[in-house]
Amino acid sequence: MTETSVSGKLVYKFREGNKGMKALLGGKGANLAEMTTIGLPVPPGFTITTEVCNLYSASCTYPDGLTGQVDEALADLEKDTGKRFGDPQDPLLLSVRSGARASMPGMMDTILNLGLNDTTVAGVVEQTHNPRFAYDCYRRFVSMYGDVVMGCKPEDKDEADPFEVELEKMKQARGAAFDTDLSADDLKELVATFKRVVRGRTGQSFPDDPREQLWGAIGAVFSSWGNDRAIAYRGLYGIPDSWGTAVNVQVMVYGNGGDDSGTGVAFTRDPASGENVFYGEFLVNAQGEDVVSGVRTPRPVVELKAVFPDVFDQLMEVRQTLEHELRDMQDFEFTVERGRLFMLQTRNGKRTGLAAIRIAVDMAEEGLIAPDEALMRVEPEQLEQLLRPIFSPAAKQQAVKEGRVVAKGLPAGPGAATGRVVFNAADAVDWAARGEQVLLLRDFTSPEDIRGMSAAQGILTAQGGMTSHAALVARQMGKVCIVGCQELDIDSAGRSFAAGGAVVREGDWISIDGFTGEVILGQLETRPSEVLQVLLERSMKPEESQTFKYYDDMMKWADARRRLRVRANADQPDQAANAVAFGAQGIGLCRTEHMFFGDESAEGRARIGAMREMILADTAEERERALAKLLPIQREDFTGIFRVMGERHVTIRTLDPPLHEFLPHDAAGQAEVAQQMGVSAETIAAKVDDLHENNPMLGLRGCRLGITFPEITRMQARAILEAACIVKGEGVDVHPEIMIPLVGAKAELADQVAQVNAVAEQVFSERGLRVDFQVGTMIEIPRAALTADEVADVAQFFSFGTNDLTQMTYGISRDDAGKFLPDYLKRDIWPADPFASLDQSGVGQLVQMAVQKGRATRPELTVGICGEHGGDPESVKFCHRVGMDYVSCSPFRLPVARLAAAQAAIEESGELELEK
Ligand code: ADP
Ligand code: MG
Ligand code: MG
Repeated sequence: MTETSVSGKLVYKFREGNKGMKALLGGKGANLAEMTTIGLPVPPGFTITTEVCNLYSASCTYPDGLTGQVDEALADLEKDTGKRFGDPQDPLLLSVRSGARASMPGMMDTILNLGLNDTTVAGVVEQTHNPRFAYDCYRRFVSMYGDVVMGCKPEDKDEADPFEVELEKMKQARGAAFDTDLSADDLKELVATFKRVVRGRTGQSFPDDPREQLWGAIGAVFSSWGNDRAIAYRGLYGIPDSWGTAVNVQVMVYGNGGDDSGTGVAFTRDPASGENVFYGEFLVNAQGEDVVSGVRTPRPVVELKAVFPDVFDQLMEVRQTLEHELRDMQDFEFTVERGRLFMLQTRNGKRTGLAAIRIAVDMAEEGLIAPDEALMRVEPEQLEQLLRPIFSPAAKQQAVKEGRVVAKGLPAGPGAATGRVVFNAADAVDWAARGEQVLLLRDFTSPEDIRGMSAAQGILTAQGGMTSHAALVARQMGKVCIVGCQELDIDSAGRSFAAGGAVVREGDWISIDGFTGEVILGQLETRPSEVLQVLLERSMKPEESQTFKYYDDMMKWADARRRLRVRANADQPDQAANAVAFGAQGIGLCRTEHMFFGDESAEGRARIGAMREMILADTAEERERALAKLLPIQREDFTGIFRVMGERHVTIRTLDPPLHEFLPHDAAGQAEVAQQMGVSAETIAAKVDDLHENNPMLGLRGCRLGITFPEITRMQARAILEAACIVKGEGVDVHPEIMIPLVGAKAELADQVAQVNAVAEQVFSERGLRVDFQVGTMIEIPRAALTADEVADVAQFFSFGTNDLTQMTYGISRDDAGKFLPDYLKRDIWPADPFASLDQSGVGQLVQMAVQKGRATRPELTVGICGEHGGDPESVKFCHRVGMDYVSCSPFRLPVARLAAAQAAIEESGELELEK
């Protein structure tokens, strides 16, 4: 191997590191070091740093001195254990484990029992007097190494693991039900068979030299940083490619040496509900991967109390120590070797949104963390999970009565999901791309299934426990998930499964209840979450719902901490009511055009009819006549909204879309409208033709409409202000804000402000009442941002319309971006969809500049954002940093925005040391 020069320390023994060294040692390495330091029983080992990975990824070479440092650390392990690597009498055996800075469950591959060959295995037999055990370790090693290092994997989605196939064949030949029924000789034969598989597939022979094995494994871990599934995972969770993984080399301990041994995975609290109870699973006489891979279904950890009482007591102490030292819920791995406990890993546990909130609130109340930390512990997006649907109780009861509950597994990810069954991840992706709602059914999942899991509504597995891969990943993705549903008899090749006497085929509808673990035939009606039932439907009292209590505590803390105010985008009184329930402090965007599209009722048709009359009018008088019909309709809408919003500020935008959007473009539709309006179809067609623009996004819309047809703005201003007078007359101190869209120059806004102000004076004198109102503008054309100091001369507030601002800054149309955006994202040309998350470095500059320039002219200028970005956590934090007064988003995103705003304030204060 070639070496390149990168000097310094490349290898750390566990006792030389600590939990603060995650960037260098990876999460697993840093925490193994921490546990060693605080005196927990960790098998000795060392970590090769992430810096070595970065160099290796870039140039496929190792830095100078690495071999020497590894040799030295290895010698240290030999001294510690009194065993020698490759010793035929008493060989030192190692695990080689990857561990990136951010935990990437199952993304990287681990190799156990390294150091075995036909010579050393005899040493193990001699030491343990247990040939069966020795050969069991050996065959596991050969298959893991063959898979991970030498690349002997299934070649397509329907093929099984080549080593599994041989194992199954052997079991069948011997009439063995379990692996454990095979004899030492069987396993010895299997080792030879596995080696033949390797040679057959790769043309290479299996390496016997332990050192060659070790370097092969190290190289494979470093290379795995660049494999597809690791890249996919990083893509999903925004982990930079530059972080790299560390390699941990550790002395093996054995949970598979007999019935006085075992292995397990535990959580310091329940990761699904968040409840403060010890939670986990173990298997007697098994090696690590058996629990996490979900191949055998393990037993609940509380049963350890009966099996290994001393170990159980020790674990209860470990649980306290870990939470105390690491100050968060931990997910840890342990192994019991002949009655002795060893800790193999700990990390912050993945959890459902519900659990994240509960654990954060509980830990703050227990005094383990401060409320600010509690707020930082929850990802704003996780709040969405509290708003997720559950099955309608009636539909569920009906299903139970009809015997449609055909199986029950472990509830690993809460929520209710319904969809059509598919049997592999690739199909889940394809079906979902076609717009199908799917449930992914597998025996158990592996990292290759990530994309399919992401595409599915829910995940159902026959094998595995609450800590299996499927459960872990589902919880993180916030997917509904059931695991370990052993009653399912799956025929993957035939794409069907049987359960409870029914046969379900690919494409059939099923439903899964992620709260109870029930699998139900058919499509089931769902209903809103408890939080929604308390807040919106009021069908539940707050004190009846524990979920609501945690939501509410979190929101109270967030509200006390944030500076940024939150408003909602709401067009109608019912939406405004939802917004208030979710904590809106105002309306940031009320779009008036939606009001013109009524429903099929007579009133609804009158709305669009009057609008079309206005559009068809040839003279100002005709237009005024049509507008006069719209006035009372709009006034009533605004009255309703003001009544709901009370004293909160309400920003109403004047007409924005191009007029052709209000007329049908097809002949049949035009004929119908013609008949309704009492004009000829040709008249309508001619008008549509007349309104045609080559690029409507940049055409006659926004304030350009109000400038060309001032009577539209006047009518709208009148409707708003008359409504305000009416509600003020009812004793409410209303605060309307009239917002002029698509302004690019001060003069445009000045024109519209003058129109509004003239109308205001008329209305106030007619009504004998004045209302405190403001006129301002959207900043959505780059020119408005560039000349914001001038615009602020006539604007009393700014609201960033970042959808249009993004379109115009990038020069892309949202409606056409679908043709290339996916490609751009896949190839990393753009880091993210700029319509989903604000482009801070580009569009953000315009925003920041406009805020500064606007405030320079008018210090009291109110500034907010009303584009989709107002509900995106990273964008919300940006808005905080540039000094906006509020963000406005859809009502259902408000909880997310409130928490993100609180986090922005905490981050800015710098009072918390934040791990990133
Ligand atoms: P992952 O990142 O996928 O969790 P790990 O490195 O934790 O991978 O290893 C996979 C399995 O191997 C775990 O179950 C772990 O307990 C087991 N394992 C790793 N190192 C050792 C060791 N030194 N002795 C015994 N089991 C080990
Ligand atoms: Mg692994
Ligand atoms: Mg692990």
